[in-house]
Amino acid sequence: MVISCDHSFDSDCSITSTFGSRYVRKSLPRFRMPENSIPKDAAYQIINDELMLDGNPRLNLASFVTTWMEPECDKLMMASINKNYVDMDEYPITTELQNRCVNMIAHLFNCPLGESETAVGVGTVGSSEAIMLAGLAFKRKWQNKRKAEGKPYDKPNIVTGANVQVCWEKFARYFEVELKEVKLRRDYYVMDPEKAVDLVDENTICIAAILGSTLNGEFEDVKLLNDLLLEKNKKTGWETPIHVDAASGGFIAPFLYPDLEWDFRLPLVKSINVSGHKYGLVYAGIGWVVWRNKEDLPDELIFHINYLGADQPTFTLNFSKGSSQIIAQYYQLIRLGFEGYKNIMENCQENAMVLKDGLVSTGRFDIVSKDNGVPLLAFSLKDHSRHTEFEVSDYLRRFGWIVPAYSMPADAEDVTVLRVVIREDFSCTLAERLVNDIIKVLNELDSLPPTVLLENGDMDKCQAVIRQWKRFMISRKYDKAPPLPPPTKLNVIC
Ligand SMILES: *Cc1c(COP(=O)(O)O)cnc(C)c1O
Repeated sequence: MVISCDHSFDSDCSITSTFGSRYVRKSLPRFRMPENSIPKDAAYQIINDELMLDGNPRLNLASFVTTWMEPECDKLMMASINKNYVDMDEYPITTELQNRCVNMIAHLFNCPLGESETAVGVGTVGSSEAIMLAGLAFKRKWQNKRKAEGKPYDKPNIVTGANVQVCWEKFARYFEVELKEVKLRRDYYVMDPEKAVDLVDENTICIAAILGSTLNGEFEDVKLLNDLLLEKNKKTGWETPIHVDAASGGFIAPFLYPDLEWDFRLPLVKSINVSGHKYGLVYAGIGWVVWRNKEDLPDELIFHINYLGADQPTFTLNFSKGSSQIIAQYYQLIRLGFEGYKNIMENCQENAMVLKDGLVSTGRFDIVSKDNGVPLLAFSLKDHSRHTEFEVSDYLRRFGWIVPAYSMPADAEDVTVLRVVIREDFSCTLAERLVNDIIKVLNELDSLPPTVLLENGDMDKCQAVIRQWKRFMISRKYDKAPPLPPPTKLNVIC
């Protein structure tokens, strides 16, 4: 039966095709829930069609988050889409799968555990929730220690690099912890371990290091940080710990750089987060946090749920959430195994090099990312006199590519980069196509009048840009480049 079918309009709305019905002729209300129902196929079509205007996730090179999984895993996820994860009594197997994932990830990060000892950790909605939990554990532990010593405990701070992901700023603001940021500088876009240790004082709850900076994929030197901080702790008697935000690098380093010491092999590393939905290779909605051992997670933060006679400790911000992502993470871990993850990460790394070589060969870009880090390319235009990275980004959209451009945080704000994240589903062929399209965009931009914005009506500079462009246009006449459209009005904004 079709509810609320207007028979005076459609002679028989179960026969009329969706596009022949009146539902596609009216725009849907945007502010109030509509009075009447509409047929399900019409609702489906209207929503589906509006969503077509979203970008294509597979071409969204801005994101680290997984956009492709095997159909078998899609099937498992759809089959569990109606399972609320929090109903551990009712879905004990799902709970068991999450615990297995925690154990596997803890071992991957070299957590000092016995063969059958269970790890301390939890599945979260993403690294952001994981970071809130890890931060809370540090804050509470620090407060307890200060209280026991009879010292003030109302001014906690946390030390990070200015390159931290926004979720650290959220943690600081939501949970009232002062964020002390180590400033960056041109050509050094990660936290300087020496400066970080200098910022540590008796109120520092932890230093957060990043394995795979969001800005350029670079790994921070956690080993050096650990050594410097050990020294400082010895001198001061403080016990400042380290958290590693391995949101993107946690599933890279163990496979590509097994000898790099960044994890629980370092004694001051007390907790680590990783995004299951980044290089953990699961669709959006899963992250993990693991603690070195029980003592690093204050007991008063844990809620104990008793199910089937067993104690299920929980420590999360949400109550209800889906189960599919947890099941999918378990699928990936056992389906791929160490070998599978390693192959995928090696391919990502190789495709990143294909893209890098292509970009370098244009002669137009400086590469800001490092070869060993998260497989991504961050690059800047060498010459900003006529056009900016933002224009390159805009023009690439026409080919379907989504490549973000952004400026670096303090004190490197004058550096702007374009960033391409190489995910599992970004093949060598796509990398080559992207290089070709970037070359097309550069050629097109070259043929356009400069659009650089000059500060404060600097007329000399403005004239210089115009002269340079004219010279450039003349030189273009004589080289092999395709003929250019006649110069139009210059739109240098002075
Ligand atoms: C992506 C990212 C986060 C946030 O993680 P979500 O899983 O998106 O919540 C935090 N830190 C770093 C370094 C990241 O790359």
